[in-house]
Amino acid sequence: MSPQYDAVIVGAGFGGMGAAIALDRLGLSNFVMLEREDDLGGTWHVNRYPGLAVDIASVTYSYSFEPNPYWSRLFAPGDELFRYAHHVADKYDLQRRMRFDTVVKGAHWDEQNHHWVITIEGSDSITARYLLAATGFLSQPQRPDIVGIDSFAGDVIHTTAWDPDYRPDGRRVGIIGTGATAVQLVPELANRAAELTVYQRTPIWVVPKLDLPIPPAVQRLFARIPFTQRVARAVNTSILELMMVSAVLHYRQAKFLNKTAALASRAFLRLTVRSRETRRKLTPDYDFGCKRPTFSNAYFRVFNRPNVHLETHTIERIEPDGIVTVDGHKTEIDSLVLATGFNLWDVNFPAIDIVGREERNLGQWWRDNRFQAYEGVTVPHFPNFFTLSSPYSYSGLSYFTTIESQMKHMTRLLREVKRRDADTFEVTERANTEFLDRVTELLDDSVFYRGSCQTSRSYYFNQHGEAAILRPTSTVNAFREAGSFPLDDYHYATSGHS
Ligand code: NAP
Repeated sequence: MSPQYDAVIVGAGFGGMGAAIALDRLGLSNFVMLEREDDLGGTWHVNRYPGLAVDIASVTYSYSFEPNPYWSRLFAPGDELFRYAHHVADKYDLQRRMRFDTVVKGAHWDEQNHHWVITIEGSDSITARYLLAATGFLSQPQRPDIVGIDSFAGDVIHTTAWDPDYRPDGRRVGIIGTGATAVQLVPELANRAAELTVYQRTPIWVVPKLDLPIPPAVQRLFARIPFTQRVARAVNTSILELMMVSAVLHYRQAKFLNKTAALASRAFLRLTVRSRETRRKLTPDYDFGCKRPTFSNAYFRVFNRPNVHLETHTIERIEPDGIVTVDGHKTEIDSLVLATGFNLWDVNFPAIDIVGREERNLGQWWRDNRFQAYEGVTVPHFPNFFTLSSPYSYSGLSYFTTIESQMKHMTRLLREVKRRDADTFEVTERANTEFLDRVTELLDDSVFYRGSCQTSRSYYFNQHGEAAILRPTSTVNAFREAGSFPLDDYHYATSGHS
């Protein structure tokens, strides 16, 4: 029985769109993209809070084959990223193959027919030769399980569900969380709220953001002579690559870089925050790099303002009109903002129920046997499946380097499938194990295992204490391997015969 589609892509963010463009280039154009939200853009559609901006320079945070000469700033604001996503979808004719408000419940491999059966909430199942999960890393919002949170009488807003009509002006606002999102949002709230209380459980390393507008003359230069933007991209990407490879992956050899970055952050704090006690509270006690550091010129400064309070006592409970901390102090608030991030390890790997050959359940198998994926894209027992937001896949600091190396891997593999006139591929157990062993060994030098990370509460670590997100190689290595992995790392089969 032939499947309805060449491929189903779950997710219409930048990862899903990259995969779609790769499929089109391979001539596998009969695909559908299923998206639970009501629009494309993934993170950049869902996150709309004030202050949202990218913090990897935009010349790099974009597809290399689709540069945008018109970024208004070095670090573009969120709405420009959203518009860029639409531009890409239009230019590559992706929208007509997207289905919004479509929640995928799960997918299972039909062993007899050699295709995937994808089940969708409130709709018929569909079948496809290939399944690509591009559900993102940070796509399952985390609502804190704090006693009494449901009893709160005022507005409760998670940063991924920002109400554009919400006005903090003149209100008493409490915000829980001090991750990268809060670092962008807190200064915006501080400017407008009557009182703002920031509930911090773990401080975050913050360094200045060297952000500048890109003058129209430079934008025109980028548009007229694209080579100039490619040079800017190459320079910026090289700097990011150097930071990643040295301070994160080779902490053992280069820890002075992490120490220097921490010193720079402390000096910045010393220069911007007047109160010694507040500075002490804002200073992390774990190594720079254990947790994703942030960039902001405005965050530290707001703690000098009389209307901003930093609360570091643990929250005991939430009452209808305020938050009570363990020291018995109650702060009355009108609105509660949850900048509490995302749940990666319980519900996101994978984000949908995926059942492969011999009824192997991916989520269960990962939890029982360590999180793993060959080259961060394929898994044994899951034929014709690409997992794009997967363990050990995130390469470099810009998500686009991950996306493009995965596109390259897919392209090489699917060309081979076609050349052999096969209908299935599946990575071998041997290749997968060798890859897992290699990344495990390489991570031994990283800040995650050599640094002092115990108190960081970093989402880079899973429930077993493994830092299983980042691929511990350079992006150059990731790209090279995506184009040169041994083709016999895969089994190929035609109508059930290898
Ligand atoms: P996050 O980094 O996971 O931060 C969540 C915050 O909420 C942490 O401070 C956490 O404290 C706190 N929290 C969670 N549950 C809590 C509870 N029950 N009680 C008290 N505090 C609680 O999430 P995020 O800030 O949304 O950022 C996630 C990622 O998104 C970033 O690391 C980054 O990769 C990305 N991001 C990027 C940009 C950008 O590029 N511009 C902007 C925003 C976000 P603990 O640390 O103690 O757990």
